[in-house]
Amino acid sequence: MIDSDFITNTLVDLVRINSVNPDLEKGGAGEVEIGTYLHNTLSLLGFSSTVDTITEGRVNVIGKYPGTRNGKSLILNAHMDTVGVQGMKNPFGAIIKEGKLFGRGAYDMKGSIAAILGVAKAISEGHVNLSGDLILAFVADEEYESIGTSKLIKEISADACIVTEPTDLRVCLGHRGFGVYEITTHGKVAHGGLHKEGIDANIKMGKVLYQLDQLSKEITASRKHKLCGEASLHVPLIKGGQSLFIYSDRCIIQVERRTLPGEMETTVFEELKGILDKLNKEDKDFKATIKQVIWRNPHEISKDAAIVKSLSKSILPPNHLEYIGHTWWEDSGLFAEAGIPTVIVGPKGGGIHQQEEWVEIDSVFDLSKILLQTAINFCQ
Ligand SMILES: [Zn+2]
Repeated sequence: MIDSDFITNTLVDLVRINSVNPDLEKGGAGEVEIGTYLHNTLSLLGFSSTVDTITEGRVNVIGKYPGTRNGKSLILNAHMDTVGVQGMKNPFGAIIKEGKLFGRGAYDMKGSIAAILGVAKAISEGHVNLSGDLILAFVADEEYESIGTSKLIKEISADACIVTEPTDLRVCLGHRGFGVYEITTHGKVAHGGLHKEGIDANIKMGKVLYQLDQLSKEITASRKHKLCGEASLHVPLIKGGQSLFIYSDRCIIQVERRTLPGEMETTVFEELKGILDKLNKEDKDFKATIKQVIWRNPHEISKDAAIVKSLSKSILPPNHLEYIGHTWWEDSGLFAEAGIPTVIVGPKGGGIHQQEEWVEIDSVFDLSKILLQTAINFCQ
């Protein structure tokens, strides 16, 4: 039922279209061209399709195959944007070698888009009868701020969603979330020779960094999740001081905290704030503030959820059923927050966000078969 030639040709076309996220790399093309391609393809396949503009140059494309009765509806989701192409020899070449297709986005996640279009073709040409709606949601900007999915979940809902991020055809039941926090220590400006007057914000930050290092070791050792690994923390950015011979008035760090399913926004914030409160009690000159900059919920779905059962039943030999979790965050977190049970499955490949990226073409065909069978199982 799956048309492998159609899927391969579609994948080649998709990789040849630049859809680099313009917020990640200057000159990135965004999603208009790839979105137009998807809209046209869906329309030719008999799906109703809409192009939804989010902001200039950024669109979502939503295709719909209406159910014949009031059965369960399913979203198949993939993001259209890719990370940048700096340092890549042939990012849009879509060269096929030994069963692998190379190019930016081949694995993350144009292979998945091609697999979903393979489902669309099989369903429409086979006049497959689904009781519930099948919604194909191709979104913008997953690689940066997820403006695509954020808008989409305000406008549509469904009984379940499959996010088709790469999983090597394993069933991904969840992922870690993350929080980004800005901590500022406040000093007192003075001439470098006036040590009785100055308070050095940079040295005060040293105390915070020591405590963060302790916390990092503690949570990595003690907080573990069976699929998603352990919680973690690091400090990707630091900035402090204004000049030599002046006591620093301010030091600012950005803390990146990766959370496990079950960890809560308020608890994670309070844990960090607690460090500053403790330091303040020990040292009357210590002054610091903290604010949360980004929060993305972790995600987890039960093996017993209807969509997971439908998907698990569709993984057939030569592939075998294996459950995993991801350590990075994905749009599935947003779908789940909107109350849509969400699971993740995608193709095999490698080189994600690296200078050589590829997808295994056979796994794209397999993914298409798995998604088709899951839709038939679920949309009843
Ligand atoms: Zn991705």
